[in-house]
Amino acid sequence: MRILLTNDDGVTAPGLVALAQRLRPLGEVLVVAPERQQSATSHSATLHKPIRVAPAQVAEGVLAYACSGTPSDCVALGVANLSSGPVDIIAAGINHGRNLGIDVTYSGTAMAALEGCIKGFSSFAISAGPSEGKEIPELHLQTAADFAAWLCSWLHDHPLPPGVFLNVNVPTLPADQIRGLRLTRLGRRRYEDVLERRVDPWGQPYFWRGLLVKGDEQKTDTDEYALEHGFISLTPLQSDLTAKDLLAQLEQLDLPAQWARQGK
Ligand code: MN
Repeated sequence: MRILLTNDDGVTAPGLVALAQRLRPLGEVLVVAPERQQSATSHSATLHKPIRVAPAQVAEGVLAYACSGTPSDCVALGVANLSSGPVDIIAAGINHGRNLGIDVTYSGTAMAALEGCIKGFSSFAISAGPSEGKEIPELHLQTAADFAAWLCSWLHDHPLPPGVFLNVNVPTLPADQIRGLRLTRLGRRRYEDVLERRVDPWGQPYFWRGLLVKGDEQKTDTDEYALEHGFISLTPLQSDLTAKDLLAQLEQLDLPAQWARQGK
């Protein structure tokens, strides 16, 4: 089995190291990860400047590269140029922090898995982190790494169909306290945008952006609920963003004919 591993927290992130070490016995692991923090860079691609790669040390027996580009660049480069042969699985993580609900669209980790999906590979993102606003002393990365290893083996026997990928969140708990695996949908989260206005030493204003989660949907089938109740959450996602219900409704209303009639 050949696994391409990336992340968005950068090539030195503890989550990447833990995952590389844990996946190493499963086969050939190639790491192509951003040289620095790329969280919340989503699916962005570097098109207007060169992408540089340099050898990196991540884990014993694992070929690794640090890449100046985004997580999506890392996946593209890994499968097209750096892998010694066909890749079986693309794994992104272990992200430092949860990736729940609409957050997946900001996440470089989740969108690295989307890039893998678009390119036709069985791909997943895996994240671990405490609840918002809570600090915990121990991330229990081994729990997430063990699940990722199991998932890689499962995906090797059950490749994903085209157009779908997986988003996994693992509670920050020791493995023996995990209550099980739950299949979930993305929950709906409410935010307050934080845009702090500050002034630099030259008197010019600048803004610092943050996000405050104001609340989560408390339905039992969501990713958030599973995680908060000690379950590993696995959400299947798809690359096709088409709103099929709305498309059908607009066809019903014959929107093209309405437009054609306008002004007549
Ligand atoms: Mn991250």
